[in-house]
Amino acid sequence: MADAPITQDVLTIPRKLPDGPVNLVGLTRAAMRDALIAHGTPEKQAKMRVGQIWQWIYQWGVRDFAVMTNLSKAYRAELAEKFVIEIPEVVSKQVSEDGTRKWLVRIAGGHEVEVVYIPEEGRGTLCISSQVGCTLTCSFCHTGTQKLVRNLTAGEIIGQVMMARDDLNEWPVPGAPKDETRLLSNIVLMGMGEPLYNFENVRDAMKIAMDEEGIQLSRRRITLSTSGVVPEIERTANEIGCQLAVSFHATTDEVRNTLVPINKRWNIEVLLEALRAYPRGRNSERITFEYVMLHGVNDSDEDARRLVKLIDGIPAKINLIPFNEWPGAPYTRSSNNRIRAFADIIYKAGYASPIRTPRGEDIMAACGQLKSATERARKSRAQIAADAGLG
Ligand code: SAH
Ligand code: SF4
Repeated sequence: MADAPITQDVLTIPRKLPDGPVNLVGLTRAAMRDALIAHGTPEKQAKMRVGQIWQWIYQWGVRDFAVMTNLSKAYRAELAEKFVIEIPEVVSKQVSEDGTRKWLVRIAGGHEVEVVYIPEEGRGTLCISSQVGCTLTCSFCHTGTQKLVRNLTAGEIIGQVMMARDDLNEWPVPGAPKDETRLLSNIVLMGMGEPLYNFENVRDAMKIAMDEEGIQLSRRRITLSTSGVVPEIERTANEIGCQLAVSFHATTDEVRNTLVPINKRWNIEVLLEALRAYPRGRNSERITFEYVMLHGVNDSDEDARRLVKLIDGIPAKINLIPFNEWPGAPYTRSSNNRIRAFADIIYKAGYASPIRTPRGEDIMAACGQLKSATERARKSRAQIAADAGLG
């Protein structure tokens, strides 16, 4: 069963539109080199040119070839003819009372995804999306109710990081002293979509985020959250090397089958086996178990005790997420007392059990609340029609 091929009905837009210029954003170094050569850059120079262009794009945030002054004027003009440096377009931006920012960005084909920035003391986390909607249908997740799906390209994924740096005004200025305190210091792949169903694009984008001559985020500051796509877990360690979070959410297959339906394919036992094998650089690199607190569904003391038993032997921390409600959601949030009692059992068993503070709820930016605005609008129109007896 675990070896069954993964098939899903998603579409990835090719990086190059038939006759248009090639977008350099999202290309690996090797792919950028090939693209430059294909468009006339002499092979001998290609590697050096990639290095130069790469730094302009990812270190300084430059989008205009004319600014790349260490390239000859003629070469810059040539580049401008054949290539573009494009990132997703911001459609709207909302800022929460607590400082959380949420952007709606438009990608090719008119699709839209959401990106969330969560400022914290001395750091800040950007939550990015990997797909438009999600093919999985976790019953507590708003994104899961959105049917429309396409995989984001690597350019659209790293483009979200670049867009946020634009908005936070955080590109360094050449010659200025290095500022070590970054507003955008961490990335979590916890927005819309299942990142491991879009593996190659997520990998290429995260490689760019980690590249030493660009955005330079340490792999320890990037966390990929998966619902449990078991065959891709080992690849995540080998090919990306970032931190792993798993949407665990239940302690029996019966309950997990309803909350996280991918469990019917790779159940708790198979998932835990893959997590036990997840190679880690250091012991301090623990796997995060995400656990959404749903009133009366998965939040009993017995669940907490079972959870501790299940993960025995895995270096782990358990992140308790108070359920974030959305219109029409079939669950309610566990009480604060219940969450604290649950956390206490886990803590006493020797695991860190932080309770995630919901952020940006007033702008529907909290975990699991993301959904394209167009989709929301469509739903509400359908709702209106139904309410009026027309639907
Ligand atoms: N598809 C990936 C990553 C995106 S979801 C995954 O499922 O892991 C990011 C986290 O938010 C997951 O742990 C998810 O289970 C959780 N989540 C989804 N909906 C939620 C909600 N309504 N309230 C709280 N957490 C939610
Ligand atoms: Fe998809 Fe993750 Fe939501 Fe499940 S929780 S529907 S995998 S985005």
